[in-house]
Amino acid sequence: MAAKNLCAKTVTPDQAYEVWQSIDGFWTWYVLKKYQTPENEAKNLYARWLCKVVTPIVPDGEYGDVYVSEIKEYAHKLDYNPLARNIPQAAVPIFPQENETCVMCGDPATWCLLGFHYCDGCLPTGEETAGEEHNVWNS
Ligand SMILES: [Zn+2]
Repeated sequence: MAAKNLCAKTVTPDQAYEVWQSIDGFWTWYVLKKYQTPENEAKNLYARWLCKVVTPIVPDGEYGDVYVSEIKEYAHKLDYNPLARNIPQAAVPIFPQENETCVMCGDPATWCLLGFHYCDGCLPTGEETAGEEHNVWNS
């Protein structure tokens, strides 16, 4: 049975399959798609990944294919994604047609948390809503 490529679907940087970073922390590769199975990739010196690459020169990042060998030579794999948000357990996604707006910025809301509506960017993280002294929702 042939192995499946589980990373064939292109994802957004916050959903990246892997995040690699240079030792100095200046370069970051968000792996958004892999073209081959791990088995074939290991045999291919020129295997590539589709990445968003953030560097001091391009802080907003640019998208492109990068040689896997190059990334592995200069970077180490992070065990977390700096862009991934820790969504609070109490948050529920809401549908755009509900026409709710974010309490923080007025953009269309995508989350409801304890009766307040938030867009993706303003939704508090799990850390922010946890703990006594930071919990403004219990007052
Ligand atoms: Zn907002």
